[in-house]
Amino acid sequence: MKTLLIIDAQNDFIPNGSLPVPNGDQIIPIINKIQDQFDLVIGTQDWHPKDHISFASNHDGKSVFDEIEIHGQPQTLWPNHCVQGTAGAEFHPDLKTEKFEAIFRKGTNKTIDSYSAFYDNGHLKSTGLAGYLKEKGTTQLFLCGLASDICVYFSARDAVKEGFDCFFIEDASKALDKDVFEKLKKEMIAMGIQMVTSTSI
Ligand SMILES: [Zn+2]
Repeated sequence: MKTLLIIDAQNDFIPNGSLPVPNGDQIIPIINKIQDQFDLVIGTQDWHPKDHISFASNHDGKSVFDEIEIHGQPQTLWPNHCVQGTAGAEFHPDLKTEKFEAIFRKGTNKTIDSYSAFYDNGHLKSTGLAGYLKEKGTTQLFLCGLASDICVYFSARDAVKEGFDCFFIEDASKALDKDVFEKLKKEMIAMGIQMVTSTSI
């Protein structure tokens, strides 16, 4: 059974948002177009309380994009983004969501960040997504969204570890840093994740 997992296609990650991914808006029509080819469509939202630990504004003397350590894990400090209930946390207005059977929200605990749709960064807390997908009968999992080099990458990594047959839809995803993504792409291919495009699903 084929499932499409759409990661964080939210206003704050689109140009003019608070943490814009270059050309992030270009993936929206592609994601809309492919949804009908799947048995199950799931969306995720980064969904932070305003005092979230990943925001530079919550650390005195720290700047956006500084690296700190939290619970023994490296943590990049971000601009405030995807704050619960704000317009920035909403899905892009053009994104079709009628087919979404469920929406999984992550980063909801103020003390831990979650790049992956499955687990927080320290693998302390599960979102329940893996169990949900297994119960629904998902075998093939196609991932897309924002950003390729962060949340889509970490989700794909966890998905393959959970035993799903994983496909990364490259043109339905955009990276915050293209060079970083090229390196991660090699790592994902080595893990057995298949890189595909929207026209070859
Ligand atoms: Zn976040």
